[in-house]
Amino acid sequence: MKTCEETRTCNICTLSLPAKTVHKNKEMGMLICDGCLSKLRKQNKLKHQRCVDCKRRKPVHARTANKKPLCVNCYAKRRRRDKSKHENCSECGHLRPVALRKPNGNPVCDPCYRKEVTKIANAIKAESHVR
Ligand SMILES: [Zn+2]
Ligand SMILES: [Zn+2]
Ligand SMILES: [Zn+2]
Repeated sequence: MKTCEETRTCNICTLSLPAKTVHKNKEMGMLICDGCLSKLRKQNKLKHQRCVDCKRRKPVHARTANKKPLCVNCYAKRRRRDKSKHENCSECGHLRPVALRKPNGNPVCDPCYRKEVTKIANAIKAESHVR
């Protein structure tokens, strides 16, 4: 089935929606529909703070060891630089590079972090199906 109206697929709820309601989110590098965006905002996933490295106001992606906010770009840069930074993940217990730190300072490895992101995306997806 095809309609004349241009549609875009939201990367979170994976629904095809009118292009005008789905926007490219620069910080997250994803296409996000208005509905998902407001949900993310409500959950404070997009809370902006001044990044300690680039000094720009951006969503907090991770925190440094001394709890300073880091944006996704600077975080990735730091991580690439710091190859020695392996710790036992607080989720799976494997010795791996620290993908991010929880608010309580516990390290989380990249696979577990990704799992967490998927969980959030799925939760939002499930929520948007139950209306
Ligand atoms: Zn969506
Ligand atoms: Zn930054
Ligand atoms: Zn892990």
